[in-house]
Amino acid sequence: MHGMTSHSKADDPISRESTRTLDALDRPLHDLRISLLDRCNFRCPYCMPETEFHADYEFLTRAQRLTHDEMLMVARVASGLGVSKIRLTGGEPLLDKKLPELVKGLSGLPGVDDLALTTNATLLAPLAGALADAGLHRVTISLDSLDEDVFRTMSGGRGNLTTVLAGIEAAEKAGLSPIKINVVVERGVNDHTVLDLLEHFRGSGHIVRLIEFMDVGNRNGWRMEQVVPSRELLERVQERWPVTPVGRNYPGEVARRYAYVDGAGEIGFISSVTEAFCGSCSRARLSADGVLYTCLFATQGTDLREPIRNGADDDELGDILSRIWLQRADRYSELRRPDVAEHHALSKVEMYRIGG
Ligand code: SF4
Repeated sequence: MHGMTSHSKADDPISRESTRTLDALDRPLHDLRISLLDRCNFRCPYCMPETEFHADYEFLTRAQRLTHDEMLMVARVASGLGVSKIRLTGGEPLLDKKLPELVKGLSGLPGVDDLALTTNATLLAPLAGALADAGLHRVTISLDSLDEDVFRTMSGGRGNLTTVLAGIEAAEKAGLSPIKINVVVERGVNDHTVLDLLEHFRGSGHIVRLIEFMDVGNRNGWRMEQVVPSRELLERVQERWPVTPVGRNYPGEVARRYAYVDGAGEIGFISSVTEAFCGSCSRARLSADGVLYTCLFATQGTDLREPIRNGADDDELGDILSRIWLQRADRYSELRRPDVAEHHALSKVEMYRIGG
C-alpha cells in the first residue's frame, strides 16, 4: 500500500526511516512550513501590494489564528509522520512577540533536526540571541537588493537596509548559520543590482539564492517577461566570477548550488518557473489560521483548526494529515502554462498567508 508504514517512533532514525509518509507521487512528507501570522511590516509589491493591504485591511484576529500550542500539536503530529525540517514564516514572523517560546517548544520535538526561520530581518538584531538560545538553528533573510532606491521600491517603501544588515550581523553573532539570503529577481526592477549584492556577500560565508519571480497568489500581476531565467543569471555571474556546480545537501533541496572557483563561497538558484522541481517536493504549509496546503500554488487547503478545536487528539490529527498527504499529487510548476488564459484564472492561495 502506498505511503504509510507506522506512527510515532520519531526519535529513532531506523523507525523514522520506516515512518516516512509518501504522497501519490512517492514524495515523502519532510518539511513543514508554519506561517505564524498574516501580518507584515513590509509591503513587497509581489506579495503584499500596499494598494490591497492598506491601513484598513482586515487581517486575521487573534482568535482566528492558531495558538502556539495548536501549532506545536500540528508540528508534533507531523514530525511523527516523518517531518524533520520545520520553517517558521509569515507574513513577518518576528512580529509574533512570543516567538522564542514557540521556538523552544518546536526545538524539543523528537526527530526535528532542522528548525529555520524566514524573515525580512528588520526586527532581527534585538531578537537573534534569544531565538538562538531558544533552539532556532538558522535563518533565511529576504533581501531583494542593496540599492537603497530599489530596496525601498521592493519593500513597498517600508524597509530600512541598515536594520536588515544589522539583523544579519546579529544572526551571525548568535550562530544562526548558515545564513541564506533570498533574492527575488524581477527583470527591469532589481536584476541590474544582483551582481552588486553578490559582491557584497562574497567571502562572508552567507549563501545568496537568486529566485525566479513566480506567479504566487493572484495579486502580483505576474508575466513571463518579468522572469529572468536562472540560466541567464548564471551567465551574468560566470562573466564576473567563475562558479562551479556542487551537489544538493539533501533530496528535495530547492536550490541549485554553485561555488565560486576562487573560494569566496556559495550561491544558489531557485528556478521554479524554468526548471521546476516538483518531482522531489516534500513541503507542506500551514497557514496562520490552521489551513494545511500541499503546494505553494494551491487553490485549496484543508482546515485543521476546526478538528483541533473540536478536541481531536494526536492520532486523529495524524490520520487527517496522512490522508491529506497520501492523496497529494501537486506539481503546479511542472504544469504551469503561462500562455494559457485559464492558467491565470486560477484562484491560488496568497503567499503572505503561507510564506514562500
Ligand atoms: S509548485 Fe508545488 S509541488 Fe511544485 S515544487 Fe512548488 S510547492 Fe512543490
